[in-house]
Amino acid sequence: MLLRLGLNVIRILSSFFLCLLFFPPSSPVFSQQKLQSLVIINAQIADGTGAPLRKANLRITGSHITRIGNFKPSKSEQILDAKGLVLAPGFIDIHNHSTRGLDSDPLAETQIAQGITSLIIGADGDSPWPIQPWLIARTENPSSVNVAVIAGHATIRKLVMGEDFRRAATPEEVAKMATLTAHAMHEGAIGLSSGLEYYVASYSNTDEVAAMAAEAGKAGGFYMTHIRDEGNKSFEALKEEIEIGKRAHIPIEHSHIKVSTTAVWGKAPEYIATINDARKHGLDFLADCYPYEAWHSNIKVIMPDKQYTNPESVEKALADTGGPESVLVTEFKPNPSYAGHTVADLAKANNISGTEMYIRIIKEGDAWNTEASVIGTSMIESDIKAFYQQPWVMVASDGGINSSHPRGAGTFPRVLGVYVREKKWLTLPEAIRKMTSLPAKRLGWKDRGTLKVGNFADLVLFNPDTVIDHSTFEKPFELPTGIEKVFVNGTLTWDSGHSTGAKPGAVLTVAGKPMRKYFQLL
Ligand SMILES: [Zn+2]
Repeated sequence: MLLRLGLNVIRILSSFFLCLLFFPPSSPVFSQQKLQSLVIINAQIADGTGAPLRKANLRITGSHITRIGNFKPSKSEQILDAKGLVLAPGFIDIHNHSTRGLDSDPLAETQIAQGITSLIIGADGDSPWPIQPWLIARTENPSSVNVAVIAGHATIRKLVMGEDFRRAATPEEVAKMATLTAHAMHEGAIGLSSGLEYYVASYSNTDEVAAMAAEAGKAGGFYMTHIRDEGNKSFEALKEEIEIGKRAHIPIEHSHIKVSTTAVWGKAPEYIATINDARKHGLDFLADCYPYEAWHSNIKVIMPDKQYTNPESVEKALADTGGPESVLVTEFKPNPSYAGHTVADLAKANNISGTEMYIRIIKEGDAWNTEASVIGTSMIESDIKAFYQQPWVMVASDGGINSSHPRGAGTFPRVLGVYVREKKWLTLPEAIRKMTSLPAKRLGWKDRGTLKVGNFADLVLFNPDTVIDHSTFEKPFELPTGIEKVFVNGTLTWDSGHSTGAKPGAVLTVAGKPMRKYFQLL
């Protein structure tokens, strides 16, 4: 009897705390009666599934969508007349570099102005560490957007190997990395990312990455990768990625898909065929693509053989990238005057060859222990078009707050304005699907990414006739136009060209579950 009483008390207490876990005191569920509702009338609904636009009203109650259809708002409700604009789910940016930006700029105007309501950080193998304190800090200092984090392969690799990372890891080290990956997932990471083309990770082998990815997969995560080579050896790198996916039994997100050197320009159809074959054989493979022909990285990334001062290697690498006139320096601490000039320009001004100029920039950078940031023009439009037209390719920016590439402030409006309206590569509903339900699918988020009763009210209201990006390489922070209103978790964050100052962004873990802060405090 006493035991049963005790059990009942425990049950009641635990359901109370579980309730706290899912509906913390600030959650609207606790004050159901007082909830404000808002009805958006006369909207053209793009529901995120790719279905055709339809006219309907949508009701937001608290943080959720509570009705969609042709109903009349009640007298006590707030009304927003959409006047025929398109209402879509908030855009989800699966590859975003705002890790530091969220601290300095929690209103994230360059992001919210594009219609982004959720951004995923930790891409390219580089993530905050440890994961949990970072997520708790985000919970305590929320931003205007929802945030989730992927654990970085190179971050973990450096933690285990220290400065001695220029070699393959031993089996013991690989085991440690796998354990740390599992730990990161336990702390709230949503997957594992890698940037195998970058310095620290370039010394890793397939076994190492597969062992770590397997741990992420076991915990319900996915593997997101900037593969080992996006140029001459991009087909080999793709093969390795597919092998990792199969061995680790993990869904794949291929970062910023591209074929980026002259040798593979025009080969997108073959690349796509290889991926379609893997998908046909059961691999859960999705990719993202940014809508620009130029990439932005460090100057060393064009040298797969790392022979940065070997003239023969440099000459070949520059040719593969489209020549020294295709490599534009954007930032260089040892010599800031290089910024804004191509390697070809700088070579001419110094009366030396492009190869010699490249080597000079490398040496000057090494002396300062830094690297020049560069933009390379290395993609051709027909390849981008071919990728964008695949149903498994989504939109992602690879940008973020303070990005010096225009994609940081322009990606989503650019796809809507240029690829949908001007070039007609995609229908509007299909483009919206690539910005909403497709990334949500990769993330395992069931309550965001589509307009559906019961989902979170992450919403974008935009004008399909005017939406366009304005950011350029010269003015990368210029805000887009045509994005009229943005709601995050039911709260208006962007209103006709201005941030409202609201910071309703949630911190999300695997499958979109909120950060279990309250649970951990018990
Ligand atoms: Zn990358």
